[in-house]
Amino acid sequence: ADADLPVPDDARHEWEDVAEQVRAHQFAYYIKDAPTVSDGEYDRLLRRLEELEDGHPSLRTPDSPTQQVGGTYSTEFAPVDHVERMLSLDNAFSAEEIAAWAARVERDAGGATVHYLCELKIDGLAVNLLYENGRLVRAATRGDGRTGEDVTLNVRTIDGVPHQLTGENVPRQVEVRGEVFFPVEDFEALNASLVEQGKPPFANPRNTAAGSLRQKDPRVTASRNLRMLVHGIGARKGFDITRQSQAYDLLAGWGLPVSSHTKVFGDVAAVQRYIEKYGKARHSVEHELDGVVVKVDEVSVQRQLGSTSRAPRWAIAFKYPPEEVNTPLLDIRVDV
Ligand code: NAD
Repeated sequence: ADADLPVPDDARHEWEDVAEQVRAHQFAYYIKDAPTVSDGEYDRLLRRLEELEDGHPSLRTPDSPTQQVGGTYSTEFAPVDHVERMLSLDNAFSAEEIAAWAARVERDAGGATVHYLCELKIDGLAVNLLYENGRLVRAATRGDGRTGEDVTLNVRTIDGVPHQLTGENVPRQVEVRGEVFFPVEDFEALNASLVEQGKPPFANPRNTAAGSLRQKDPRVTASRNLRMLVHGIGARKGFDITRQSQAYDLLAGWGLPVSSHTKVFGDVAAVQRYIEKYGKARHSVEHELDGVVVKVDEVSVQRQLGSTSRAPRWAIAFKYPPEEVNTPLLDIRVDV
């Protein structure tokens, strides 16, 4: 499609309508912690925007939801600028889309060896922990990727998040990215006890985790059994890495919680088997997962591939088909 061709009115109107719906859903999800549509429906709307923009490239403006990190931040919290931007991830919904992504990666790697790091896609909320000289000095939500919300006191109440890094060669600075989540078992126990007390249960672990973390009063956060697993690093000073998997080993050595499900593979067929395996074993994991994240393990290749305005080209999120039925959320308690 030609970027200079005028966009027909019907396409422009549909784009405006869908973009407005997406922004409203982002507000409900990221600010209110109370989505009004399923994740599958949200993903479908975003895909529709992509399709319209593929057909009419002039619709793809820098402020399109397809070009931005989806979140936003609330004025209820102090704003925090991340040292390095936090990005989102591009999505794949089929084995073919994973194969096409891997083929692009291998082409653009220009003959360099590529290993694929496979991780579970934890359905929680992203946080950024800033450690300086080993001390946890700030924790923030992702927000719009540049600026997030200060949730330092809340994150300090999470079991397993070290206030002080230990071990050898603790760096001068490191931004640790990870996911805060509600373990499924604890979530079910909490809901069972609410029902027993005649109170309405919470809708799902993801939004309950987000609502529990984003509290003005950290004592409320402390009363909920939240957990965190790390899945990346941002800015760093005082150490270097050549592989992403090596970063996780270092982080684990400093006392940070890393996932036991992460695996490195040399070919894409093994990646597909990993995706299939966890598609069947989704409910045997302690946290909810909505997919698998595949990353290029070699940092030199990551640098070579770079990022778009919203996501790295060296990683992709495979999303499992939604299991959720569209439960009438209105019957369920959404305040947290
Ligand atoms: P995303 O959830 O598709 O992927 C990016 C995020 O994945 C990262 O920021 C990180 O927090 C998370 N993640 C989990 N495990 C990870 C791992 N192992 N490695 C790296 N990252 C990992 O994209 P997004 O922009 O954060 O959010 C969009 C998604 O959120 C939608 O696809 C939908 O599922 C949900 N959403 C739903 C609604 C709604 O109204 N229902 C609204 C907005 C967003």
